[in-house]
Amino acid sequence: MALHKTQTLFIYNSISKKKEKFSPINKGAVGMYVCGPTVYSNVHMGNCRTFLSFDLVFRYLKHLDYKVRYVRNITDAGHLENDGESGEDPIAKKAKLENIEPMEVVQKYTVDFHQTMAKFNALPPSIEPTATGHIIEQIEIIEQIIKQGYAYQVNGSVYFDVTTFNKDHHYGKLSGRNLEDMISNTRALAGQSEKKNPQDFALWKKAEPGHIMRWASPWSEGFPGWHLECTAMSTKYLGQQFDIHGGGMDLKFPHHECEIAQSEAIHKKSPVNYWMHANMLTLNGKKMAKSTGNNILPAELFSGNNTVLSKSFSPGVAKFFMYQAQYRSILDFSNDALIASEKGYNKLMDAYKSIGEISHSERSSIDITTWRQSCYDAMNDDFNSPILIAQLFEAVKHINTLKEAKASITKEDLQVLQKTMHGFIFDVLGLTDETSMEAGNDDKLSGAIELLIELRNQARNNKDFATSDKIRDDLQQVGIQLKDGKEGTSFSLS
Ligand code: AMP
Ligand code: ZN
Repeated sequence: MALHKTQTLFIYNSISKKKEKFSPINKGAVGMYVCGPTVYSNVHMGNCRTFLSFDLVFRYLKHLDYKVRYVRNITDAGHLENDGESGEDPIAKKAKLENIEPMEVVQKYTVDFHQTMAKFNALPPSIEPTATGHIIEQIEIIEQIIKQGYAYQVNGSVYFDVTTFNKDHHYGKLSGRNLEDMISNTRALAGQSEKKNPQDFALWKKAEPGHIMRWASPWSEGFPGWHLECTAMSTKYLGQQFDIHGGGMDLKFPHHECEIAQSEAIHKKSPVNYWMHANMLTLNGKKMAKSTGNNILPAELFSGNNTVLSKSFSPGVAKFFMYQAQYRSILDFSNDALIASEKGYNKLMDAYKSIGEISHSERSSIDITTWRQSCYDAMNDDFNSPILIAQLFEAVKHINTLKEAKASITKEDLQVLQKTMHGFIFDVLGLTDETSMEAGNDDKLSGAIELLIELRNQARNNKDFATSDKIRDDLQQVGIQLKDGKEGTSFSLS
């Protein structure tokens, strides 16, 4: 039987501000959309925390045997500075600065993002659509919004008319903001731009002469507004209404509020059943951000090349550190916390690996079934990973007393213990045993070199010195030295 039929998952819904029982639109299947990165620079650890929070959600839903379609976009156009509303396009700005094509900027940082996520052992999403690949869909949505009377055109740009929308709908339902208050707070700005009202947001912007990234549209040669791409891509791949929409807390307003407005304007219904927001990773008590420079990059963490930490840390340790906080709480990045996480991570892995040393007996003195359910209870309570980790450490205690024969366990219970530990450590938390991975790679490399030595010996026996020399020289070029001695050929790595 599918696990989700026996487990009841509760998700904190940012729109109702309550934990709600999770019930997907289609039985047994989940549609989830998460806002992806804007690819004009390397992702920092703060960005990674949000993406790893949703990797945990994706993994747990899969673990519960749901069929999940997880869509995470790549923002490669339209996200202007100042919350996507004004200023330059950071991708075009970077392209000009480095004298390369905007699409080279996009490619470089998309590759960096993928490589980083792979290092953290995060699963790739089911679909990863790009904003520039969905210009037609975005234009179609603008046309529909105009038709409904919720958008207006000025000088080749199109803006969403928040005031008119708010007469029939509620703009501010996600962020808890009130349009009247917003208007009175920004009165001084009114009339300073071509917008009717400072709260209105761009659906289409006419490109200035120097703007590189531009597309033809019914209104002007230009580019779409940032909020539009997520409405276009989530609707296309998940439908007008879907289960989960996620992102970092800082996207709640205006980005997600505007997504709701765009969808409601044309579909007349709320697009998302469960809004999830991951909280911020801070450094020295302040939000990690690209713009302020208050951040640390994954590469700086892994190499130890930074001014914040006393040593390098592996991706697994960094991930373990992040999961020791629940995704909705603020987490401060610090050397002490990472050192403590490294100890905990090693202790957990060592205990897991030593389960094989336990011998079973006739009866169990430990209640494994209750322990197993408490692991599920933790995750069912809005993906509470710190409580799950505390439960895994309960199991570490059990493993140690069992090894010392101070407790007993049946064969069946021992299997449940091993399987549950495996499931939560590797499948749900997505951790890896980094020590054995390195050892495993060494074994594979030695095996491959031994094979080349054997082929070289065969070539020499056949007097094919061209081949035998090529093997020796090419290996030398990649830093592997062969040494012929009385005992045969050995190798060393430089
Ligand atoms: P961006 O590339 O700026 O659109 O950000 C990508 C994702 O990272 C968004 O979901 C942001 O909310 C999230 N994010 C940005 N800064 C932080 C931070 N300091 N901690 C956690 N998430 C963040
Ligand atoms: Zn988005």
